[in-house]
Amino acid sequence: MIHRIHNFSAGPCTLPLEVLQEAQTELVDYQGAGMSLIEMSHRGKHFDDVHNEAVALARKVFEVPDDFSVLFLQGGATLQFSMVPMNLIPHGARAAYVNSGSWASGAIADARIYGDVYTAWDGKEDNYSRMPMSKEVQLQPNTRYLHITSNETIGGIRFSDWPEVDVPMVADMSSDYMSRRIPWDRFDLVYGGVQKNLGPAGMAVVFIRQSALETCNRNLGRYLRYDIHADKNSMFNTPPVFPIYILGKVLRWMDETGGLTAIEKAAEEKAALLYSEIDNSRDYFRCPVHQASRSVMNVIFRLPTADLEALFIKEAAGQGLVNLKGHRSVGGCRASIYNAMPRSGVEALTGFMKLFRASHPD
Ligand SMILES: *Cc1c(COP(=O)(O)O)cnc(C)c1O
Repeated sequence: MIHRIHNFSAGPCTLPLEVLQEAQTELVDYQGAGMSLIEMSHRGKHFDDVHNEAVALARKVFEVPDDFSVLFLQGGATLQFSMVPMNLIPHGARAAYVNSGSWASGAIADARIYGDVYTAWDGKEDNYSRMPMSKEVQLQPNTRYLHITSNETIGGIRFSDWPEVDVPMVADMSSDYMSRRIPWDRFDLVYGGVQKNLGPAGMAVVFIRQSALETCNRNLGRYLRYDIHADKNSMFNTPPVFPIYILGKVLRWMDETGGLTAIEKAAEEKAALLYSEIDNSRDYFRCPVHQASRSVMNVIFRLPTADLEALFIKEAAGQGLVNLKGHRSVGGCRASIYNAMPRSGVEALTGFMKLFRASHPD
């Protein structure tokens, strides 16, 4: 028997067991080559196939239109906080950002270094407990793009409805990447680190529209230029071969288990199960975010006291339900239930929540 527990980590996080096992089988001798994939040239036939299949599957699974390029870049989502404004804000134009919490704040802080950036909506007054409605997003003239964070991993909120604005959008989708269908016509660029829904840490996947590529700033160090990565099919320098290899397997797993439709349905159902456990607990468990903005990936909740929260996290771990502690900046509890978290993991958690509530009344 393999020892696997339910891992609710926010990232890096749980991956499909089938994917791990397949990689394990292939690791030492990749398809009869007598060496592993991570020991061979990234310019050789084996890796070339892996790379191109990952690109093709990313397009297929996420239903990406043909006029977008797919880029595999190092530096995680964090480097994109700089690359986006460096490449996309032309001299004399501005960029708008929605400040929805921790990750959006990071994106704004970096963007300010490279361009004329303003906050089109700030959730501070509501303690970052909700996303804005379209009419609350205040755009100024000469705005190149509106940057949003589709899901705030720490605050546990997401855009359930995408903003309707008359400039192209750019989105950091790290923590709900490929967990739902998106309206591509409203985006010029979509990016995210892969270590939440899609693979191991060490890479971002960027989708960029052709027309945006054509107007990118070219006065940058070569690694920082989207147009060069697009021209070279993400092989400008040595790409992150291991993350690309595992990403391809995760995408194949998604494709074979019903694609985006099935993934989205499963995600909605898992989240509904957990939120209803919280809502039906007579205020023993409380979710501090607005109903309409509740994240489907990162479910945050509180217990009656900090002592009970600490005990809950400890006893849950004893039952094989780990990494339920909220981010240190906000406290409380957080269950991250990404694509690879099986429904049975969420059922085990809600079962434990029932027992805990009964055995530790407030
Ligand atoms: C995790 C995360 C990031 C940072 O990703 P790195 O790959 O560590 O740079 C950025 N944005 C969001 C929304 C995240 O969840």
